[in-house]
Amino acid sequence: MFSLKEYISVKSLEEAYGLLNQNKNNVILGGLLWLKMGNKNYNKGIDLSQLGLDTITETESEVEIGCMATLRQIETSQIINNYFDGILGKSVKNIVGVQFRNCATVGGSVYSRFGFSDILTALLALDSYVELYKGGIIPLEQFVAMPIKKDILIKIIIKKDGCRASYKSHRIASTDFPVLAVCVSRCSASWKVAIGARPNKATLAINAAKLLSQNPTKDDIGAACVEALNEVKFGTNLRGSAEYRSQLAKVLVRRGVEDICK
Ligand SMILES: Cc1cc2nc3c(=O)[nH]c(=O)nc-3n(C[C@H](O)[C@H](O)[C@H](O)COP(=O)(O)OP(=O)(O)OC[C@H]3O[C@@H](n4cnc5c(N)ncnc54)[C@H](O)[C@@H]3O)c2cc1C
Repeated sequence: MFSLKEYISVKSLEEAYGLLNQNKNNVILGGLLWLKMGNKNYNKGIDLSQLGLDTITETESEVEIGCMATLRQIETSQIINNYFDGILGKSVKNIVGVQFRNCATVGGSVYSRFGFSDILTALLALDSYVELYKGGIIPLEQFVAMPIKKDILIKIIIKKDGCRASYKSHRIASTDFPVLAVCVSRCSASWKVAIGARPNKATLAINAAKLLSQNPTKDDIGAACVEALNEVKFGTNLRGSAEYRSQLAKVLVRRGVEDICK
C-alpha cells in the first residue's frame, strides 16, 4: 500500500498543476486502484474530484470524457454507447468487476499508458485526442508514443466521424488482463487497426490498414492480417508467447474487419 504525507482536494487545475510540480513526490490521485498496488511514499496526493471532471458530454462533432469519469460510467453511458458501435463500453466490461470499474478512472487509465490497456487500444482506433493542462490537445497516438512526464490529463476527446468499429480481446479468464486486444475501425474508406496488450503499449498497424478498401475482399483481409504481423512487434510474458499473440492477432484483426463489413 502506498502512503501520502498530505492529501489535498484542489479547487482548480491551476492549483493542481502548481502542486504537482512543487515536488517530484507529489502525485495526482485517480481512482487509486493502480496506485494502491505499489508501496511508494508520496509527499502530497492531489485529488481532482471537486473539479467537475467526471462527466461524459457531447457536442455536435465530439464526445468528451472527463478524466475523473469512471470505467463504469463509460460502460453505461448512453452517449458513449450511441457511437462507434459501442466499442468503448465493450472494451472495459471485462476489467475486474463492477465495483472496481466504479472506482477506476479514465484519467488514471489513459495517463498511465499501460501495456495491457483495453481502453487505450479501443481509443487508438478512433480519432481520439487527450487534453493536457500544460501540453494542450494532442492526438492520442502522439501521447502514447511520448515518454511519461508530469502533467494533468483533463479529458479525452473523440471526434464523432461516423466510424464503424469492432473491439476484441482474448483473456485466459474473463476478468484477467488481456492476452491480446484488437480494435478495428472504418471511417468512410479509411481503416485503423490498433493492437494492444502485445504485451506492450497499444500501437497502430498502419500498413495493414492501408491494404483494406471500403469493402475488402477475403484476400485483402488476409493480406492485411499478414501485414499486421509483419509490422507490429509481439512479446512474451506469463500470459502468452510472442508467437501465440501473433496468431491471435491474425484471427482478431480478421474478425474485427469482418464485423464491420457485415
Ligand atoms: C488488479 C488490476 C487489474 C486490472 N486489469 C485491467 C485490465 O484487464 N484491463 C485494463 O485495461 N486495465 C486494467 N487495470 C487498470 C485499471 O483499469 C486502471 O487503468 C488503473 O487502475 C488506473 O486507474 P485509476 O483511476 O485507479 O488510477 P490511479 O491508480 O489513481 O492512478 C494511476 C496513475 O495515473 C496518474 N493519474 C491519475 N489520474 C490522472 C490525471 N487525470 N492526470 C495525470 N495523471 C493521472 C496517477 O498519478 C498514477 O500515476 C487493472 C488494474 C488493477 C489494479
